[in-house]
Amino acid sequence: MSLTTLPRELRDLIYGFALLQPSRIRQRHKATCERSQRERGQPEQPPFIPKPLPSFRVVGSTQEPAGCGCAKRRLDLLLVSRQIHAEAAPVFWSKSTHTFENAEMFVEDMGRLRPEYRNLIRHICIVSMIPEPLLRHSYGDVFPIFMSRVWEHVLSCKSLRTLEAPPSFVEFHADENQRLGKELLYFETLTILTITCFIWPRAETRHQDTVYVPYPLEVPLDRIKHEEDMIELVRVGIPRHAFSINNAVHEQLLRGSRCRPPRALQLRLCDTDNEVDVTFHDGTTVRLEFLGLPNGPKTHSRNVRERIMAKHPDIFWTDIRG
Ligand SMILES: [Zn+2]
Repeated sequence: MSLTTLPRELRDLIYGFALLQPSRIRQRHKATCERSQRERGQPEQPPFIPKPLPSFRVVGSTQEPAGCGCAKRRLDLLLVSRQIHAEAAPVFWSKSTHTFENAEMFVEDMGRLRPEYRNLIRHICIVSMIPEPLLRHSYGDVFPIFMSRVWEHVLSCKSLRTLEAPPSFVEFHADENQRLGKELLYFETLTILTITCFIWPRAETRHQDTVYVPYPLEVPLDRIKHEEDMIELVRVGIPRHAFSINNAVHEQLLRGSRCRPPRALQLRLCDTDNEVDVTFHDGTTVRLEFLGLPNGPKTHSRNVRERIMAKHPDIFWTDIRG
């Protein structure tokens, strides 16, 4: 039986399972990837970090860390046949959150995309691990020109519902932010996404590792009427939010004493249990997600199994048949 002989409803379900993946910042390394952690309790740097930190080594590996393709989208199904492509491509373009490593990649990829697919896109997330001042500095005087090209592409996605983007997208772009609501019929939320690194004490050792904490801040578009409102939000609102989160994480998770280890260690966070509530000084609580933690027992066992299967596929086939 081939895929095309199944009823259309079932085919749509299969397209969803095969093509819709978690947002790129939450994707994991394949078990066989060189960057997938082999040792229990040791952190695993997420694949959305394109160039691993030079200090990072997978325990037991003698190789230099390298970038890998684990965060890339797997679209083999779209190449199977014309019919499957015609049916499955709309599912992929309309239901995925399309994540780009930075604004340059966004412009490059969108420039190549067929208009019919561009019109289906509903969710865009642009991540930038480069600090804002550095980004502006590297572009110099052409930064505003570059950003207007970026905005042209955003506003050409006529079905866009949500946009997550770094602060450089909104500062000095109040007009474009307003156009999101006016020109894009279905637009719902603009979120400023910042990803911060924290130095995390490694369990039972004196070593330290880096964890990544995304924190989203929704822009109240109805209250941003003028450029000054947006500048205020970017220069005061976002740093204040970041400062509160930094304080809360350091005070509530990282600070310990000789007899009392940091709460982070007591919690024994891992990849499958990676959310913690922290409370700000004003009493509000936010739930933070930590990326780059050690793999928990479930992930570790699954990865071990998958590596053995990849290395000795015959053993498993014999087991199943016998
Ligand atoms: Zn990988």
